[in-house]
Amino acid sequence: MRKIEGNGIRNIIHTNICIILMILVVLILTIAYKYITYKREVQASLETSVNVEELYNTTNKEEANIKEEENKKEKDIDSSTSDWELLLVNKNHKIPEGYTVELEEIETVHQVDKRIVEPLKQMLADARKEGLSPLICSSYRTNAKQQKLYNNKVREYERWGCGSEEAKEFASYWVAIPGTGEHETGLAVDIVSKDYQILDEKQEQTDVQRWLIDNSYKYGFALRYPTDKKDITMINYEPWHYRYVGVNNATYMKEQDMCLEEYIDYLKEFEEEEYKEIIL
Ligand SMILES: [Zn+2]
Repeated sequence: MRKIEGNGIRNIIHTNICIILMILVVLILTIAYKYITYKREVQASLETSVNVEELYNTTNKEEANIKEEENKKEKDIDSSTSDWELLLVNKNHKIPEGYTVELEEIETVHQVDKRIVEPLKQMLADARKEGLSPLICSSYRTNAKQQKLYNNKVREYERWGCGSEEAKEFASYWVAIPGTGEHETGLAVDIVSKDYQILDEKQEQTDVQRWLIDNSYKYGFALRYPTDKKDITMINYEPWHYRYVGVNNATYMKEQDMCLEEYIDYLKEFEEEEYKEIIL
């Protein structure tokens, strides 16, 4: 009996040890599984943070590139609305009081601001080399001359039956109101073809105008009153009136299809930004 009891006790102890061992194995396996899972999660989170960092760096780089591009665009122009070439004269911007201009003769009978003589001469010479016959038909005008031309135009409309105010308004689309015309600055010239000297829209069909419209920017001149900008310039289409603005400005205006008013507004945006940066 005692032997049987002894065997029974041993069996129980053996069974318990087995159970304990099994529990230990399960525990060890569970801990090992948890540890491996934890390690993997840590690794994954590290990789994610690296990616986020990379993404953050990439985004920063892209933003920096965009900013650099914008700055570059600004630097490329390198112009200020206070530059003499960019003097804005129109119905809303009269010639500054006391404005003086140093004139120089060109093509014998004309005068322009002496600073634009060389590029103007070069442009005419290059056009002639192409077998064309450009002819300056109007250049610097005194205020008195502008007044005379304007009065003549007003009278012309009055003869056609317009009232005084109406005649003045219509006239102003063709001949600038004295003090608001670019010819008084000496920075503008009217150029026609020697073969067709009438100032109407057919002028743009001449070989001279075609060449000037395509090439004048290379010499710093801009076609000042384009047909699609009448609402902004407040002057009718004049495919003969060229205004000196400088090579860089004329090139940019042509590339971006901007008239002078639009270009000045564009530059002002940059200048206002710079001003804000200075005072902040
Ligand atoms: Zn003109």
